Parts: sequence; structure tokens; C-alpha cells
Amino acid sequence: MQNQTGPAGLKTFEDLDWAQQNNPALIEHSLGQVTVLGDLRKYLRWLDDHEVTTTVTSKLKREKLRAKGIHPSSACKKKACLLKLFYECTYQVKPAKKFDAKSQLTWDIGTMLHDMMQQHFSAMYGEQFQYEVPLQYGHIKSRTDGIFSFDHYRFILEMKSIKEGGNFGWEKVQASPMEDNVRQAHFYMWLANIPMALLLYINKNGSEFKEHAVLFNPVLWNEIEQNVLTPVLSAAFEKGPMVPALPGWHCRWCDFAHACPEKGGKKDADSDWSEEGS
Ligand code: SF4
Repeated sequence: MQNQTGPAGLKTFEDLDWAQQNNPALIEHSLGQVTVLGDLRKYLRWLDDHEVTTTVTSKLKREKLRAKGIHPSSACKKKACLLKLFYECTYQVKPAKKFDAKSQLTWDIGTMLHDMMQQHFSAMYGEQFQYEVPLQYGHIKSRTDGIFSFDHYRFILEMKSIKEGGNFGWEKVQASPMEDNVRQAHFYMWLANIPMALLLYINKNGSEFKEHAVLFNPVLWNEIEQNVLTPVLSAAFEKGPMVPALPGWHCRWCDFAHACPEKGGKKDADSDWSEEGS
């Protein structure tokens, strides 16, 4: 796909802009390179053939406070509560995290799966793969699961561990990725100036993978900027108008519900088990 006057692949937003105007076929070709599963299968086979031991180290953190600011994992949600995002930027209300053993163990398992895959990708791709890369612009603070950098293309890695069944299960991601996950990947692409992302779903109980290549969509990003980032950052850091709350089912898991004037949560998120363990 070498072109005499333009880039040979997609590594930056500038490359994407150029390709959209001059060589759309380059975009399709580059998206076709946003994949790891073929290499992963060969690597797993190689590990087995050579009886190689892989050591995976996991840190299971229990920090209760994140840095003040916009965090993509919260702000990506299509129905994100702007008041919650405002509180995450200011801590005007002190968060009260409830202990929930089942949720905590679910997150821990997800962390360990992430670490396992990052270890494999590091062994497979060497310096072409960086993991847990910090990304920040102003008050937008994040850390991406990984960045792949090859000769003619780069892409963000965003992994999600998922199980079969349920409203957010494995079956839902067979044809396309989940909308909120695409939105989250857009934060990382924008922050890193990388126009493509790989959403890799890991089936926890079926030990299968599903991958989706995502191209940066400026229309979607403009919507996120206008409806989420601009109002929340303005209210939190520039004395702009206060943002509205969006109460709903998600209030059950909101760390600010205890002090929120609008809270719509109806049930306590603690299960019987977590009550016993707390
Ligand atoms: S309790 Fe609900 S309405 Fe209040 S800040 Fe949290 S998510 Fe928003």
C-alpha cells in the first residue's frame, strides 16, 4: 500500500486525514491489520510444543480513590451521569465505596486475565507492544491496556473479560463490539493520536476470544466532547453551569449515592455474602 506522496499506513490522525481524502483503500487495508488472534493461536501452540513456562504477576490493588479528573471508563458510558463525573473531578462529595466481595473478586479475575494477555503479547511482539501506557490531556486521565506499534500502523488495545449469558454477555459481542466499549476506546485513540483500536473480548467461562477493529470516528468523538467533556470540565474547573444528574439503575453502584440529591438507586448493592464479609 505504499504511496509516493502519502503515508504507507495509519499511525496518526494526520495519516487518517490524508487517507480519507486521498486513499480510502489504505484505511480498509490498515483496519485488516488490526488483529492479534492469528498470532496468538500460533504463539500458544509454540508454547505447548516447546513446553515453555509463562510467569504472570498480578497486583490486586485496593486503592479507594482515583486521581481527580475525567476517567474514560466512567465517562465513556452513553448514559453517563454528568453529576457523578463532576464529583469524580472535584470530590466535592467524598466517595463511599461499599465492600462487595463478589464484585471485587470479579474485578480481580479480570485484572489477572489482563495481566496474562499482556504477558503473552509482550513475549510475542517485544518492543512493538507497550502495556499499561499512561495517557493524559489536562484533566482527562487514563491508562490504556496496550499500544501496538508496527512499521505501518499503530493501534490501541482495549480488553474486556466477559462471560456467557446475561444482558452484557459473550453472545452480544459476536457481530459487533459494545457501544460503551467503542466510546471508551475513542478516549485512548484521541489521547494517544492513534486512529485505530482493537477491542479484544475474553470469554471467562468459555476460554474463547473475539476481536473487533475500530476506526476513530470524529463524529462520535465530537458528540462525547460536546455532551460530556465540555460541560463536566467547565463545571468542575471553570465555574461553568452545574451539570445535571442522570439517575437510573446505575445509581446502585454509584460511590456518591449517599450524598446525591437526585439518587435514583432503589436497592443496596451489597449482597448477603458481602454483608457477611464486611
Ligand atoms: S447517585 Fe445516581 S444521580 Fe446521583 S451522582 Fe450517582 S449516578 Fe448520578
